[in-house]
Amino acid sequence: MKRRIYWVMLLLSAVGVVCASILTLGVTASQSMKEAEKSVCQLTDSISTSYNYMTLEEYKDVLTHLVDNTRATLITEDGTVLFDSNASAAQMENHLDRPEIQDALKTGTGEDARKSSTTQIQTYYYAVRLSDNCVLRLARQYSSLHSMVLSSIPGIIVVMVVLFGLAFLLSRRLTMWMMRPVEQAVRALDQAGMNSEPYAELKPFFSHIREQDQQIHDQEEILRQERETLGIIANNMREGLLLISKSGDVISINPSAIRMLTGREAGPVEFVGRNYLIVNRTQEMHACVKAALAGESEDAEFSMYGRVYHVYASPMVRLAEVQGAVVIVLDETQQRMAERSRQEFSANVSHELKTPLTSISGYAEMMENGMVASMEDIRTFSGSIHKEALRLIALIEDIIRLSRIEEEPRQENLLEPVKMDDLCGAVLESLEPVAQKAGVTMKLEGNVPAVLGEDSMLSEMVYNLCENAIKYNRPGGSVWVRLEEQAEEICLTVKDNGIGIPEDSQLRVFERFYRVDKSRSKQIGGTGLGLSIVKHVVEFHQGRVELESALGAGTEIHVFLPKQA
Ligand code: ADP
Repeated sequence: MKRRIYWVMLLLSAVGVVCASILTLGVTASQSMKEAEKSVCQLTDSISTSYNYMTLEEYKDVLTHLVDNTRATLITEDGTVLFDSNASAAQMENHLDRPEIQDALKTGTGEDARKSSTTQIQTYYYAVRLSDNCVLRLARQYSSLHSMVLSSIPGIIVVMVVLFGLAFLLSRRLTMWMMRPVEQAVRALDQAGMNSEPYAELKPFFSHIREQDQQIHDQEEILRQERETLGIIANNMREGLLLISKSGDVISINPSAIRMLTGREAGPVEFVGRNYLIVNRTQEMHACVKAALAGESEDAEFSMYGRVYHVYASPMVRLAEVQGAVVIVLDETQQRMAERSRQEFSANVSHELKTPLTSISGYAEMMENGMVASMEDIRTFSGSIHKEALRLIALIEDIIRLSRIEEEPRQENLLEPVKMDDLCGAVLESLEPVAQKAGVTMKLEGNVPAVLGEDSMLSEMVYNLCENAIKYNRPGGSVWVRLEEQAEEICLTVKDNGIGIPEDSQLRVFERFYRVDKSRSKQIGGTGLGLSIVKHVVEFHQGRVELESALGAGTEIHVFLPKQA
């Protein structure tokens, strides 16, 4: 910009100088011609009159002393040069052919302007016929345009140099003056606003930029919000989301996909822009992505790091062309485990029910076949049948309870405040005969605010915990039931100093039908469902359960339930 202005100014000044010089020189030249002609005419006329009063020699003397730049020539009627103030008359050629001489002889005066054959310089001639038909001719040289131009060149050069210098300085000033507001505006664009308007010519330019700036800003904001929303969704999705480009490179991957497909926590930077095989190399995943990139939707299930994943891959199509693949990964471990546990449960239930029924059927068959003769045997056999029947009933009751808890959806409006201290007191009271029979003492301490829950379920939970603490205890042992209020939860602890649970069974005791010592449990009427029911009740109440136990020292089970809001 600066350079362009400089060159324009330079050109303008050069053209200006040349034009001005030509014009000035032209005018000056024509002026000087007119001046020369006029003064030559006047001088000739005035000198011609004195011809009659002087001798020829006197007249020649006068002509010799004329002003420097004027040449005087005296010519006879036949063209012979009598006298010339600048040259030797004898050597000069006949002048009769000169137009001004001919005119003067004919009309009395004559003039001409031409290059002098003597001096070769542009000259103006004026001739007057004298009384004796001689002709007096005065001549004066013009300052020609060419000579004027030549003599002016140094001056023109000096003027041009000065003008170029001025043009340089001015162009710098001008561009600075023009560009400063624009530069300020550009700076202001980068900063907060653009409120200054330096001069009127820039007003439309500024308002246009301001409008566009606002539009860009608005668009950016919309895009930012959309990107943020998508980012939030992708980052918080439990499902894994993976976008793959046509060439198989990862475009985007969310934290769930990283966790599931790589089995570790990492940032997306590690994978974005690299081939998807770096994320997961399983055959199933590869087949799905390959199909999706070929335009087909595909899904597959595979196990990895002890978990079951299901991948769904679909092609990303734009303008009827596959641009890449979208892969959704679902963790189906829970569903598979639930399915397995249901299958196991059905098998276990059948087995658990079959055992007492087989015993009952065996005893009844023996009695039917008359194998039981004495009254004593009948009493023993019927006692066994009764015991097995009771076990069967207890088992069925526990199964029914468990199914009810499992299937019952949590309905907030049906929950009511439950006073845990009263509830625990009632449970301990109902278990008192059992505890006495087992030689175990029970103690309840602490009181807590009410929790929001289902009274019968919570009762069942406390009953199972306390019953276990009595059942798996020793004569003379103790059971402590403690209630504590914590910041956001209440904590129920059931502690005993009974037989304890071996470490490898501590995680499994909450599974259905799991018993540490099967025969002992059966003997004391255990179904293997008590702690399973406890776990489900706690989950129903959105709490958690923790177990601490040492073999031979006792067991401590903590149930944490959320406080009523
Ligand atoms: P069960 O009906 O057999 O008692 P549970 O589900 O209540 O079934 O308990 C599972 C197993 O956990 C029991 O068989 C027992 O071996 C063990 N157990 C539960 N509570 C205790 C405890 N307080 N002390 C020692 N062992 C326990």
